Amino acid sequence: MQRIPVLIVGGGPVGLALAAELGWRGVACMLVEQGDGSITTPKMNEVNVRTMEFCRRWGIADAVHGCPFPPDYPLDVAFVTSLSGYELGRMSRPSRMHQKPEPCSPMRLQVCSQMWFDPILQRFARTFANVSLRYRTRLESFAASGEGVAADIVDLESGRRERVDADYLVGCDGANSMVRRSLGIELDGKTLGHPVHLYFRAPGLLKICGRKPTVFFITVDRAGPWSNVRIIDPANAMWRLMVLDTDGTSTPETVDREGYLRRALGRSLAVEWLGTSVWTRRSVVAERYSMGRVFLAGDAVHQLSPTGALGMNTGIADAVDLGWKLAAVLSGWGGERLLSSYDAERRPIGARNVGMAAEFYLAHEKFGDGLAAIEEDTAAGAEVRERVGEALVRGVGRMFRTVGLQLGYRYEDSPICLPDGTPPGPDDPEDFVPSARPGSRAPHAWLADGRSTLDLYGRGFVLLRLGAHAPDGSALEAAAAARRVPLVTVALADPDTVRLYEYPFVLVRPDGHVAWRGNAVPADAGAVIDHVRGADAPTAGLTPARPGETAPRRAATR
Ligand SMILES: Cc1cc2nc3c(=O)[nH]c(=O)nc-3n(C[C@H](O)[C@H](O)[C@H](O)COP(=O)(O)OP(=O)(O)OC[C@H]3O[C@@H](n4cnc5c(N)ncnc54)[C@H](O)[C@@H]3O)c2cc1C
Repeated sequence: MQRIPVLIVGGGPVGLALAAELGWRGVACMLVEQGDGSITTPKMNEVNVRTMEFCRRWGIADAVHGCPFPPDYPLDVAFVTSLSGYELGRMSRPSRMHQKPEPCSPMRLQVCSQMWFDPILQRFARTFANVSLRYRTRLESFAASGEGVAADIVDLESGRRERVDADYLVGCDGANSMVRRSLGIELDGKTLGHPVHLYFRAPGLLKICGRKPTVFFITVDRAGPWSNVRIIDPANAMWRLMVLDTDGTSTPETVDREGYLRRALGRSLAVEWLGTSVWTRRSVVAERYSMGRVFLAGDAVHQLSPTGALGMNTGIADAVDLGWKLAAVLSGWGGERLLSSYDAERRPIGARNVGMAAEFYLAHEKFGDGLAAIEEDTAAGAEVRERVGEALVRGVGRMFRTVGLQLGYRYEDSPICLPDGTPPGPDDPEDFVPSARPGSRAPHAWLADGRSTLDLYGRGFVLLRLGAHAPDGSALEAAAAARRVPLVTVALADPDTVRLYEYPFVLVRPDGHVAWRGNAVPADAGAVIDHVRGADAPTAGLTPARPGETAPRRAATR
């Protein structure tokens, strides 16, 4: 029998990210994955800007940039009647090599198929001696109590059964999560459809169809948008055709893949078939993300339509939020309420992203009517193509303009952040306005030495002292030290950065979100530290400072 701090169930990208995050924080964990880690029909392709920021912190951004997806391949999206047919509209998205730097992040979205991304996470997690990854090992059952979790696992090669005792168990075990079902946690939401994925190899496909390199084609014929075709691995001519919806009766054996391919390409072509997957498009969020010592993350608690490329990225942000909290509690400085803040912070973000992904998908359905002439070589056909093309780029194209969704999530009403009384800014999927308001991702700004402010965050809390004459923050440092909370102070004087962060004191959490900010350290600095480490009583916390006030006030008690 073994005793470990954290047992992770599931070695998809979210379980691997959690193992990596915990290993990076010095927390021992074991991950069990029933599969062997190989991926033949990858789902995820887009590692978004926020996930790339985490990769930067972990030191693996270069490995992700260096994946086999060519850095000079244009990330354009084209709406076409078929790959050999008319082009209706195009969204120009330069290759990573040709992208202009953006002011809001040191990182860019990276196209990196799951078949490359998961192994990068896996290799990184393995660099930590305290992380054990056990493939072909399945969690069979578990029993949780107030003291820990007893789990029964089985080695699928040898059949050997083992009991593992863990302080905490995290189910990253995907859409059919056995961990979630065992806890009786339900999913809220609905089914949106029954897509089919067809993976194939087709060397020279673009040339044969007369197309320039484009990462994503959305096909729209007289029936409306019905499929998309994505290049997954240009060097190996690997493509994926997704039929957006079917009647739900197909199986991988019965699906008419030749028929769908002919319709999408607008011609017949002999291809090498690599795989077929028939799945259900769901838009659901779990009614809770944890129960006692058992936590859930990733697809186990939120299943999104892939429109918007948010599924894995949302799950990795779950792992990052949970990771520092588990580490804090296991090292003794996290308070009793810290772990329950995981649900309070991440479930609203799950609901937000699930909702937006569904909206992106439903935008396709607005284009079903009046398209009879769309493939005709006539004036009427040309008129339809022009009208629809523009509307498609505006409507369906939204799912590719999501910087606000990627970076703008914030923990409103978090039980471990101290609001400053300022109202929330708009949460616009397409637009991102950096903010150092508590709960938000602390903004990026370049430092004089070439690093980003984001490079300052990660290990513990960071107290920023901003301005040419920032007041003294030693009371917060002392309060943190007295509670063994890791905290370092950094002084920043660059006027643009000072303006961006707005207040002379900003306290940034280990996950890079702002916990508190103010004009001065409150008289009871210990109360601030206790609040942000989840150690104060729920009713005895600080009430928000009113706008203009310098510091949080103690809640009035009777
Ligand atoms: C077509 C498509 C495109 C997508 N594109 C993107 C994209 O571009 N960007 C994005 O962010 N997301 C995307 N997604 C979503 C993304 O693929 C998922 O959100 C992501 O894979 C979920 O990761 P996960 O680790 O939570 O779950 P999974 O990847 O499902 O991993 C769960 C793992 O748990 C294991 N497991 C289950 N039960 C047990 C058990 N009892 N014991 C041991 N192991 C167990 C399983 O074998 C599995 O490996 C896409 C999805 C689809 C369908």
